[in-house]
Amino acid sequence: MQAKMERKIVVLGTGGTIAGASSVAGANVGYTAGQIGVDALLAAIPGLRQAAGGALAAEQLAQIDSKDMGFEVWTRLAQRCASHLADASVAGIVITHGTDTLEETAWLLHQLLDASKPVVLTCAMRPATALAPDGPQNLLDAVTLAAERAARGVLMVSAGVVHGAREVSKVHPLRLDAFASGDGGPLGWVEAGRVRWAHGCAPVSATPAYGVLLPALGVVHWPRVEIVLSHAGTDGALVDWLVEKGVDGIVVAASGNGTLHQALEAALARAVDAGVAVRVASRCPEGRMLDLHDMPWQSAKGLSPVKARISLMLELMQAP
Ligand code: ASP
Repeated sequence: MQAKMERKIVVLGTGGTIAGASSVAGANVGYTAGQIGVDALLAAIPGLRQAAGGALAAEQLAQIDSKDMGFEVWTRLAQRCASHLADASVAGIVITHGTDTLEETAWLLHQLLDASKPVVLTCAMRPATALAPDGPQNLLDAVTLAAERAARGVLMVSAGVVHGAREVSKVHPLRLDAFASGDGGPLGWVEAGRVRWAHGCAPVSATPAYGVLLPALGVVHWPRVEIVLSHAGTDGALVDWLVEKGVDGIVVAASGNGTLHQALEAALARAVDAGVAVRVASRCPEGRMLDLHDMPWQSAKGLSPVKARISLMLELMQAP
């Protein structure tokens, strides 16, 4: 009889406040993110191996403040996740990440990974040296979620709440429960070591829209896509300057249901004539922009401006 293989949870450390430290004992702000190694973070949490339901392995993939996230770390992270997902001994992946750009990384991974197992991002709003850090509980919850048999796809958990990659965004600069999923609401909760799904069952994982790009990510040119805000008093000069600088795409964070200042609209028309791809997202934090038939621009299909930027970069990367 074949011995049953012990399946492990792999934790990939990228830095963030969850690995942050302050020289002022107990401080919640004024710390430096990305200071404590992922091994040390795991070692400080009792019951973690039990929550993993098997073995745990850790890799320090980066040690950065996620405000500085960029293409090089994204590439390594996506490719490392893909290789772990293909490994039969891995039951799930946890990624420790800063809160600032977590939603961007989650959306990028969602678009690239065939995640038939859970890929769970987690974070903290207080550094590891705080009087009452939130990181250890978040990490324990993330490992619990990654070990949950029904879970799949790119998820995130913080403050006990489980969110999906498409809807999640950071909505508060300080609160421990800093993330929300807008109208869609959370996918579930991790409560006392158990996962409770909001709709009675785990969400299904989708085929990634840009999975074919994964192997070449490290060698291809990431298109330059910038975000421009439509606001009172704009003159569109920023758009003209970006076109002059050779921008490949522009995502406009439009007001309301995709409305644009007329001066900006004129500049965007010039950009399109110059061959720049333009997508319109709403700057409203909640709800979803309705695509009106007479809109001359392609909409970002309900994505926030930062996620629309990632989708446009991938779309342009894939374009022949
Ligand atoms: N600036 C930090 C980061 O994103 C904030 C955090 O993790 O809460 O890495």
